[in-house]
Formats: sequence, structure tokens, C-alpha cells
Amino acid sequence: MSGALKKKTVSAALALEGGAPVRSRLLSYGRQTISSADIDAVVAALKSDWLTTGPRVAEFENAVAGISGSRHAVAVNSGTAALHAAIDAIGIQPGDEVIVPPLTFAATANAVLYRGGTPVFADVSAGSLLLDPAQAARKISPRTRAIIAVDYAGQPCDFRALRALTEKKKIILVADACHSIGARRDGVPVGKLADITAYSFHPVKHITTGEGGMAVTDNEAFAQRMRQFRNHGISTDLHEREKRGTWFYEMRELGFNYRLSDIQCALGLSQLSSLSGSLARRRNIARRYDEAFLKLPFQPLEVESGVEHAYHLYVVRLDAQRLSADRGTVFQALRAEGIGVSVHYPPVHLHPYYQRTQGTHEGMCPIAETAYDGLLSLPIFPGMTDRDVDDVIAAVGKVTNAFRK
Ligand SMILES: *Cc1c(COP(=O)(O)O)cnc(C)c1O
Repeated sequence: MSGALKKKTVSAALALEGGAPVRSRLLSYGRQTISSADIDAVVAALKSDWLTTGPRVAEFENAVAGISGSRHAVAVNSGTAALHAAIDAIGIQPGDEVIVPPLTFAATANAVLYRGGTPVFADVSAGSLLLDPAQAARKISPRTRAIIAVDYAGQPCDFRALRALTEKKKIILVADACHSIGARRDGVPVGKLADITAYSFHPVKHITTGEGGMAVTDNEAFAQRMRQFRNHGISTDLHEREKRGTWFYEMRELGFNYRLSDIQCALGLSQLSSLSGSLARRRNIARRYDEAFLKLPFQPLEVESGVEHAYHLYVVRLDAQRLSADRGTVFQALRAEGIGVSVHYPPVHLHPYYQRTQGTHEGMCPIAETAYDGLLSLPIFPGMTDRDVDDVIAAVGKVTNAFRK
């Protein structure tokens, strides 16, 4: 049978307007993959002596440090906690400024606010939507203490250009790599590109621990400080005290309970063994989308040179010149076809909280704001079947055809 004959016929009438949908069950934009080995690993942890801080925490930290090429790794209970720990380790205080991009999850900038710092929004590059080093340069002031660069969608930022800005000024470079574990830029792995790198293990991310995160660094002092921070600011943990045969502990700074449990680390360790396979699958899906959308008014983001992408998200920009419908309508039409599209992200500086407390407003980051109006994230996750990918491509073809100008 030829390929053309095998293809299922797609009804021309949009599901939005009462036609038959491409698929009846909604395909979500991201989903975890849990193997039986993952389940066995968690069960083994449950049967062990340790439920919270035990041997699997250090094992998981060592494994993540390994793939990141970094010396130290500090496991915490969310990506947000990893960012908070990083901002604390740098010593951000009221009056300090931290440069952040607007196209990210709010947690990136919130971490700065947690310590009373001021997030300063610098616009993104029009093609990749990554923090633009030239825009970041324009926002550097005598109060700038750090830059948090976000590897949006899974593409590592131009850390070489960012490093050139920060080097002589003692500005710390933080990577929000919640989208990009396992990616590389110019052959250098994520985790080795910035002074501190934060990962998230939320279920939609590449590997999951339910909730969880990690901060990796080559800097011993930062690592020490983040370890203390995740444990109430207490200088030694229970195991060290037991080893030394003493009850004594000191709380040196104000910290939090941000610990990741042994149960979660068992899952994380097991998940990590499937990372390279799942990255390969994500790249394969992205390649199929790239080819399928070549002639459609659905532009994939530019991939900068030297990037080995992790494709946490597959983001397209709608070409308003060639479509008669706006993003909201295309979004609804694709959902009606059973394709769980999403939008990443409403620009952080436009959230009411930021406008109210930070005085941010529309017009501050025009490239991000304009891009936002045309952004859509399509389903991409390693558990997608070829048939799922076909459904997305068919639905995009159907919807763009219906709204072609
Ligand atoms: C997911 C995410 C976070 C927060 O991670 P959590 O584990 O959900 O706290 C921060 N930044 C970005 C860019 C993210 O995608």
C-alpha cells in the first residue's frame, strides 16, 4: 500500500465549526514517561531505610553533575527552589538588580523578588526569542549583580556573548535551564555554560521527580551556601552530625526546607537513564514538524548556530500576514481538533503583580510583546507516537488551510 493510501482522510470542516475532529482524545502538549524500571526504583526506595535525605540524594546529584560536566550539584524540591537558592548564594539584596528576559515562566523573575532584588527585563532576539546579549548590555548598571538567562524552549542562550558582558564586571551568570537539560552550545553541555545552572524536574520537563529541581555549579562556595539554604540555613546535616557523634548544630542564615526526598531521587536517577533516548525522540519530532511546516504560515523559532537543542517545547509563530485568524482563534481551532496546544509565555513584566509592584508596563520589551501575540506551543514529548505526530501535522494543515488569507 502506498503512503498516500495509508493516510487517514481528514474532514475539511473545522471541528470548531462542527466538523469531525482530527482526533477525539486531546493530545496534551507535554507528558511524562514512567517506565516499569522507574516504578521499581521508587518501590525499592520505599522499602529502604531512607524516605527523605538518604543515599539516593547524593547519587542523583552526582549523576546530574556528571551529565552537566559540573563539580557540584544541590538537589532541591523544585526548579523555583533552585533559582531561589542560586539568588541567595549570589547574595542578592534589596537594591541589587538582576537582568532577566520577559519570555519565561514567572518563577525566573520571582526568585529575584524573594530576596528583595529588582528584576530588570531585557528584550529577546527576534529570531530565537532568547535573551539578546545586546539588549542585556544596555540594561547593565552599577547595581547589576547577576543575569539569569533562560534557555527558552530548550535552546541554550549565547553564553559566550553574555560572558563577555559579565566577566570584567563581577556579574554572576545564572542559567535557568529548566527547558534545556542535556542540550549543548558549541559542544559545551548545559550546566557548564553559566556560573550556576538551575534545572526543574516537573512532569512536563525532560526528566521528572514529581516535583523537584537541582542547581549545579563549579563554585564550591556557592554549592556550600545552597546546601545550607535548602536545609533551613543549618550548617551541617543529620548524617554529618551522626558521623561526628554530636547533637550540636547551628543555623547560620535564614534558609528553607527545600530538600528533595530519597523517593524522588530514586525516580530521578531512573529517569536520567532514559534522557538521551528521550532527547533523540524530541529532536526527531521537531525535525518532522520543521519539514511539515516549511510552506505553512507557522514559523518555527530560529535555532542559533552551535546549538544542540533539547526541545522541551516546540514553539511556532503564526504569520499574521498569511492568516485570516488571530492566535486565539487558531488556538481554539487546534484544541477543537484534539491538539493540546499551549502558549509559553505571557511576558512576565505584564503580569498584574509586576505592573503593580515593579512599575513595569507594555512597551518595555517590544520584541517579546509582539512575538507573544503569535506564539503557540505544539505537543512534543518522547511518549508521542508517530501517529500522534501525524495528527498534529494534519490538524495544523487543516486549520491553516481554513484560515489562509
Ligand atoms: C518549570 C520552570 C521553572 C520552575 O520550575 P518548577 O520545578 O516548576 O518550580 C522555572 N523556569 C522555567 C523557565 C520553567 O520552565
